[in-house]
Amino acid sequence: AAATKRVLSIQSHVVHGYVGNKVATYPLQLLGFDVDPLNSVQFSNHTGYKTFKGPISNEKELVTIIEGLEGNELLGHYSHLLTGYIGNPLFLREVGIIVQKLRQANPNLVYVCDPVMGDNGQLYVPKELLPIYRDEIIPLADIITPNQYEVELLTGKEVRSETAVWEAMDWFHKRQIKTVVISSSDLGQPGVLRAFLSQLNGPRLAIDIPKQGGKDLVFTGTGDLFASLFLAHSHACEDVSDVFEKTIASLQAVIKRTVAALPHNDGPVKACERELKLVQSKAEIEKPQVLLRAQRL
Ligand code: ATP
Ligand code: PLP
Ligand code: MG
Ligand code: MG
Repeated sequence: AAATKRVLSIQSHVVHGYVGNKVATYPLQLLGFDVDPLNSVQFSNHTGYKTFKGPISNEKELVTIIEGLEGNELLGHYSHLLTGYIGNPLFLREVGIIVQKLRQANPNLVYVCDPVMGDNGQLYVPKELLPIYRDEIIPLADIITPNQYEVELLTGKEVRSETAVWEAMDWFHKRQIKTVVISSSDLGQPGVLRAFLSQLNGPRLAIDIPKQGGKDLVFTGTGDLFASLFLAHSHACEDVSDVFEKTIASLQAVIKRTVAALPHNDGPVKACERELKLVQSKAEIEKPQVLLRAQRL
């Protein structure tokens, strides 16, 4: 029988720390989802550390895993597919085939795609991934969570104003993507991250998020955490502004706890000191307290 809350999550695994499947699994489980993590890489730690090591999975390994699931008639069990960091064009192309298989097995499958390619003008995957995301993967998605730079790459247009944001949103809606969320942008006031959401035949929303932890402090895994929380709340809530607000509320609580635990010296903050206080934030993940409200535009 088709499960109503079972996610196939294709993302990176890190032994130490919280990005990819390591940051997505726990919140999804706390919010009542069975999670089947399929790891695109197994690294010692995220790529922002001094060094990282570990194997990258290829498309043959992906096909083998899916064959195993298929052999046990398990593909119809997924209510959701979530994809994040994928570093290999052939692997990504195979994901497109898997989406279609999962849809065949469950026509109600919801696909949440985080098209991870880069940030702040820097690409951190091979450039061959861009046309595959744009032409093969994104058109299959129900919900996408690109950042500002990824929107520019996909639409081929700069996004330097709010008008450009809504034009980009419509570019995606024209391709039948129902929900587009830009989880942060530099289009807010100084010291404020502005997030945007647009739904096909639905509302346009924005939330202003005061930046926590000073301007040079960057958190890793927050984009991945955003996508998993958004998936979970979008299943439970009818109103998309509730989904957006609850997602941001839990994220802010996790970041607040992470900032509070930073060492009190003046030296540069090490990557391992910036790892998200995820497990410690169980209560705020289960019951988000909404402080930042969505504006309807
Ligand atoms: P990606 O991770 O794919 O690059 P992104 O750039 O949109 O996506 P982030 O900039 O990490 O991801 O933002 C994701 C969410 O994390 C934001 O919606 C915000 O709630 C939260 N966030 C990240 N950094 C901060 C910060 N310094 N202060 C407050 N909130 C933050
Ligand atoms: N996966 C791996 C292996 C990474 O190294 C990173 C970032 O460094 C991410 C995923 C994505 O993290 P974020 O959610 O901040 O985009
Ligand atoms: Mg970012
Ligand atoms: Mg990301």
